[in-house]
Amino acid sequence: MLKYLGSRVDMNKSLLIKNIGRLVTMEEGDDRDGKLGVILDAAVQIEEGKISWIGTSSESVNMNADDVIDIGGQVVMPGLIDCHTHLVHAGSREDEFNLRSQGKSYKEIAEAGGGIMSTVRSTREASLEDLYDEVSKRADEAIRNGITTMEIKTGYGLDLATEIKMADAIGELDSSHPLEVYGTFLGAHIVPAEYKSRRSEYIDIVVSQMLPQIAKKEWITSCDVFIEDIAYSIDEARSIARAAKDLGLAIHLHVDQFGDGGGAKLAAELGALSADHLDHTSKKGMKLMAEGGVIGVVLPGASFFTGGGHYPDVRKMFENGMKVAIATDYNPGTTPSLNLMLNASIAVTQMGMTCDEALLGITRTAAEALGLAYRGVVAEGMRGDLIVLDCTDEYYPLYRYGENMISQVIIGGNAINT
Ligand SMILES: [Zn+2]
Repeated sequence: MLKYLGSRVDMNKSLLIKNIGRLVTMEEGDDRDGKLGVILDAAVQIEEGKISWIGTSSESVNMNADDVIDIGGQVVMPGLIDCHTHLVHAGSREDEFNLRSQGKSYKEIAEAGGGIMSTVRSTREASLEDLYDEVSKRADEAIRNGITTMEIKTGYGLDLATEIKMADAIGELDSSHPLEVYGTFLGAHIVPAEYKSRRSEYIDIVVSQMLPQIAKKEWITSCDVFIEDIAYSIDEARSIARAAKDLGLAIHLHVDQFGDGGGAKLAAELGALSADHLDHTSKKGMKLMAEGGVIGVVLPGASFFTGGGHYPDVRKMFENGMKVAIATDYNPGTTPSLNLMLNASIAVTQMGMTCDEALLGITRTAAEALGLAYRGVVAEGMRGDLIVLDCTDEYYPLYRYGENMISQVIIGGNAINT
């Protein structure tokens, strides 16, 4: 695990960051395009884990704090928020990547024992300790990529014991790692092989056994269902999501990845926080999401890494009034990358997002997709989660796609030693 300066629980320390060339607040302002609220030559103070003061470097000259960091004119923005990941799993699948490179199809790979069920098998076999060891290394990587808050789903257990083990690995991360974590129960990811011919029995286990036990864990705040021909139907998803809502969980849905399956409409009907993927969502579905305040989450890495060149129509989403966030969808099969800034670059080059829209999509709008106030924006009262970028313009990290420009990560006012 990362060592970090100061303790996560030591919220009494104050931190002053000065000589910020461009402070990108993500609040509307009158800078370049007016969308990102940039303050020039800025300084920020964090006290008790929250931003307590924002001003200019000259105003900060006589201010005192326990720690003072002079960042020499670099760019500062809110810590990045990855609002859709499958970070907890055992093993990796680079062997399949090699098979794909030789022309093998997903179907052939799955029939040979690969694909998602191979991750399910390794995750079932792993102990909680081993699972935590793997996930905490990935959480370190996430922080090195500037991610300060992350949503993490279960869903590679697909049986009661392993889903609980995955939820507990997320809980362990929540209590002992500096990354801020929000857990999502995804017991309805796919139908496990052993229940293929009796899927209603599995759904009954999800609703009557898994959900009640996992919803009790305070770090599990949401429930997700994968709606697709190869996974769950609209009616099945509705019954699972309603049961989750009754237990106080918020709803996210995987929808329309391979075809328009009506999931966007269900997300609006359920008052979901977000509907994610949206590669084939209709205009009607987009309108319903906009009216229902459901945030659209696009996952550029999933389209990029699986090939084929199909990306969601983000311009149409904006035309229909939607708000759109970007996430990594980190998972061992279809997109094993934690580089959220690279995902934002792909959203710009392949989905037609503007640089401003992409930067908002990995900060402010991503916070909305998780229903989290007090983060994703640099303003007084917000959490002291900031990243320092080794550049003098906030578009530079998008333009230098794939390069890591993060020079400092601050979580809850603590400078993390990456
Ligand atoms: Zn996903």
